[in-house]
Amino acid sequence: MGELFADIILPVAAPGAFTYQIPDRYKAVLKPGSGVIVRFGKRKEVAGVVAVIHGNRPAGMKTREIDGLTGVNQLAGEVQLKLWNWIAEYYMCTQGEVMNAAIPAPLLGTTIPLKTTTAVFLPQNNDDKYDTLRSSLRRSHAKIRLLDTFHELSGGTVPENAGIERSLLLAASGASAYTLKQMVDAGIFRLEAREVSSIGRKPSDPVELNLLSGEQDAALKQIEKLFESISVTLLKGVTSSGKTEIYIHLIARIIGKGAQALYLLPEIALTSQMINRLRNHFGESVGVYHSGLTDTQRAEVWRRTAGVSGQPPFRVILGVRSSLFLPFQNLSLVIVDEEHESSYKQSDPSPRYHARDTAIILARFHGAHTLLGSATPSIETMYNASTGKYGYAELNRRFGNVKMPSMILADIGQAYKRKEMVSHFTPALVDAVREALSKGEQVVLFRNRRGFSSLIKCSSCGWVPGCPSCSVALTYHRGLNSMRCHYCGRSQKVPDRCPECGSTALLTVGFGTEKIEDELKILFPGARVARMDLDTTRRRGSMEKIIGDLEKGKTDIVTGTQMISKGLDFENLTVVGILNVDNMLFFPDFRSHEKCFQMIEQVSGRSGRRTKQGKVILQTWDPGHIVMKQALAHDYDRMYRTQLAEREEFRYPPFTRLVRIYVKHQEKQRVTGAAGELASLLRNHKEFRVLGPEAPLVARRETLHILSILVKIERTGSPSNVKRRIMDAVNAVIFGGRWKGVRIFPDVDPL
Ligand code: ADP
Ligand code: ZN
Ligand code: ZN
Repeated sequence: MGELFADIILPVAAPGAFTYQIPDRYKAVLKPGSGVIVRFGKRKEVAGVVAVIHGNRPAGMKTREIDGLTGVNQLAGEVQLKLWNWIAEYYMCTQGEVMNAAIPAPLLGTTIPLKTTTAVFLPQNNDDKYDTLRSSLRRSHAKIRLLDTFHELSGGTVPENAGIERSLLLAASGASAYTLKQMVDAGIFRLEAREVSSIGRKPSDPVELNLLSGEQDAALKQIEKLFESISVTLLKGVTSSGKTEIYIHLIARIIGKGAQALYLLPEIALTSQMINRLRNHFGESVGVYHSGLTDTQRAEVWRRTAGVSGQPPFRVILGVRSSLFLPFQNLSLVIVDEEHESSYKQSDPSPRYHARDTAIILARFHGAHTLLGSATPSIETMYNASTGKYGYAELNRRFGNVKMPSMILADIGQAYKRKEMVSHFTPALVDAVREALSKGEQVVLFRNRRGFSSLIKCSSCGWVPGCPSCSVALTYHRGLNSMRCHYCGRSQKVPDRCPECGSTALLTVGFGTEKIEDELKILFPGARVARMDLDTTRRRGSMEKIIGDLEKGKTDIVTGTQMISKGLDFENLTVVGILNVDNMLFFPDFRSHEKCFQMIEQVSGRSGRRTKQGKVILQTWDPGHIVMKQALAHDYDRMYRTQLAEREEFRYPPFTRLVRIYVKHQEKQRVTGAAGELASLLRNHKEFRVLGPEAPLVARRETLHILSILVKIERTGSPSNVKRRIMDAVNAVIFGGRWKGVRIFPDVDPL
């Protein structure tokens, strides 16, 4: 064989291919998608993925050799490489940045990671033996409890090679490590290090699928009919109409044929309820993938999706946006639930991809179908459905014919005037909560701001503490007695006196979820109150606990942010309070009306899902606002028509494509100079309109000054040509030498 070279994708932001020579020993094993270890720049060793193999020695430079292989050798298949390439081109980034997001870190090493733990086994297992053992232990309660717990956790009959995690067994039985050791020494148990996934779980029988209602069945049939001729379909179904039931039926058919399904959700918070629903039907063939997992767990899911872990491969993956990078072997259905959610778009770091749109491409590369689901589809998706680009099916009734929640508008201004406000609650809200509590029903209070109050303010001079690195005010968190920047996370102590005028009269202004929690405890002293927001769910498992308590009826009122607004399904939850939605409306964003409507519909949808009609109290300063009226009537169609007309008039998506280009640096003048030059270079082109440079809402973040330029591209031109022009202009500014160190990056389809 002659000389062979490989162009390698490396996890760096530098553009271009990195060519290495393939040593003889690897010539037979390497192929596109293989993981390799190479030396790069000053870094000693870095893992990369082979993109292309060829025989062309790069001219004019010394070529290094590939040093080794990664432990899992095939890091990407043909489809993954195609997808990385598509993302890099469409979202204007490097394939290395995509690779970085796609492959769990442990897989980039030379050894295969195994998540091991110590497990406890019975040397031999049958029921007779259990009884004999038990009676032989009759004098030690601790040992009996340990044995009983083992028996219970293992479901009574454990196969010989399955065990229980040692830590779980100790926690569940309350026995000491010493007691366990005694029993091991006595030969009753044995300990062994095992890969986690090979430890037996309590096997449970799969639950039969629910029988679909007439309307649901018709929608399912229609979706399947549509899939014969069209690859993407939108299922628009009001909240609690049974969209999830339809997904489950579709998945069952896919699995029946031996194929794989991907079920995307916008947020981790939603996966914990959904995983139970899916495992009920599909058992251990369901894998979960999200950022709450450890690196090793993610690597394990990756390997089971690829079918290279020695365990049965996952058939269904439930996950957030990054799960579309998993190495599916035989993907035939992608479900994008709550497709309108903005958390599907990654804004930082690169790749700044939209998981819904990328999922559609992924499905296309696999020859699979995509089902987009929502009660309030994004304007873009609804438009695609109405022009026939996507198929369309709908569900107009809640399951069981439960009525849509009744909506009550509560005018905050009026309540203030009449001196009827009870702290931040209108009398309508207080009454509704009181009534629900008296009937033993549950309540959700939604507020799109965490923390105690929004800010601290000096009442004599008006000073407001701000973040020294970002141009925003700090948010007061009373539990931590600190002020925290919600952009960079920096926190500092609340000062005793105003640094400007020395006054000690510091006030708290506005209110967040923490404050609501506090006020609820005072207002409804008997109620069990929980809070669910970024601050209370940071610890692993804390979110599951909050949701579990709600499910078990251990919580009466839960207050929270976005996290509680969607997907959650609690039987006994009847009242939803939405506190001050108005601030969403005045956000300078062409999507603000759409987002506000969606948010109200989603939160409202948490109430009255099974038998009783729900009640929603919408507190507002602006009861006459058009969005309030549309939300009050659950009138999605009217909202869609008004918004579409505005988008057309002002040339926004779906009528144009947008690229926002950010320019960042520590020095303000450099940002201004570079952004100005970039904007005028872009203005030389006639195919697109250039707006800005302008300062974003937060013009300084983590000590970097920021300016942004918005490029509007008409739908008629070729987007890839336009992107090339933009990239040329960006490179001219970056490499022109006038603005050293300035960072410029494009955000395609920004939110
Ligand atoms: P959506 O996804 O549209 O919000 P879900 O699928 O969560 O709706 O359904 C709402 C509730 O009604 C769930 O508790 C679900 O279990 C129940 N449900 C919906 N359809 C059926 C059905 N065909 N049989 C039994 N229960 C159903
Ligand atoms: Zn002051
Ligand atoms: Zn900050």
